[in-house]
Amino acid sequence: SPAFILMLYDLHSHSNCSDGTLTPAQLVTRAKQKGVDVLALTDHDTLAGIEQAQTAAKEQGISLLPGVEISVTWRERLIHIVGLNIDIHNQQLIAGLEYNRSLRDKRAIKMAEKLEKKGIHGVLEGVKRYAGDAAITRTHFARFLVEQGHAKNIDEVFRKFIVSGKPGFVKMQWIDMQTAIKWIVDAGGVAVIAHPGRYKMTRAWLGRLFNDFIAAGGKAIEVNFSSSSKDEISKFAQLANDYQLLASSGSDFHDPQTNWLELGMHKSLPQTVTPVWEGQSWA
Ligand code: AMP
Ligand code: MN
Ligand code: MN
Ligand code: MN
Repeated sequence: SPAFILMLYDLHSHSNCSDGTLTPAQLVTRAKQKGVDVLALTDHDTLAGIEQAQTAAKEQGISLLPGVEISVTWRERLIHIVGLNIDIHNQQLIAGLEYNRSLRDKRAIKMAEKLEKKGIHGVLEGVKRYAGDAAITRTHFARFLVEQGHAKNIDEVFRKFIVSGKPGFVKMQWIDMQTAIKWIVDAGGVAVIAHPGRYKMTRAWLGRLFNDFIAAGGKAIEVNFSSSSKDEISKFAQLANDYQLLASSGSDFHDPQTNWLELGMHKSLPQTVTPVWEGQSWA
């Protein structure tokens, strides 16, 4: 597209195929309403919503980029790797995501057992009611626990029950980061470190993460994710440049109620970085 048209890219979003609440078609409609030109659907460990989103996007005249957000383990830590512009028919990627979803099912059973021991009943059935056909995420647990009155909102459920050190937390060994990057790259995609500011890592640890990520074929980091502050954006813009990484940009939208994570409402990228879409066929 011509350089003088300012395009709005939202390269991180969720539908009800993972822990969002809108169907893929509703998500596309809302993105269009919010002025997004290019939307990536990046559900957790699944491609189930992509075809529906593509169909809706064609009807509405917006670009839909097939994406995914993969839970990976790197040096004992949980990291999210976004894959952009992946071939959704790639067999290695499909099988890999199926493996991660099987871990999600196992974790859900263990989490439910731990919460039942705390006197919370009907957990697995309740969570499955929220997840429907989607792979179970902690967000589904949070919605159920709020419904049952165990916390006043989702954030409180996370803090009280389902983060490390809390009674419902189950530590998982997800696929390792290098393997997940290979799945993405072999499927023709670009691997992106999602929300690097959320991992509470020191500069030294971020440096190790970026070096391992680059060595495995990773290309970009999210510089303005969700609710990042101006300081965070300049910090990660600088880090992207220091490590010669491209910069990605997305809202991490999940639902219309969380209005500080709205589609297309993330801040724009600083001029100093190289956007992940620069020179891409899908830009
Ligand atoms: P999971 O991948 O199943 O472990 O769930 C992680 C998801 O939970 C993330 O993608 C977020 O959508 C959500 N999440 C994580 N931490 C919080 C939090 N403190 N408050 C609200 N949602 C959260
Ligand atoms: Mn999520
Ligand atoms: Mn994430
Ligand atoms: Mn996300």
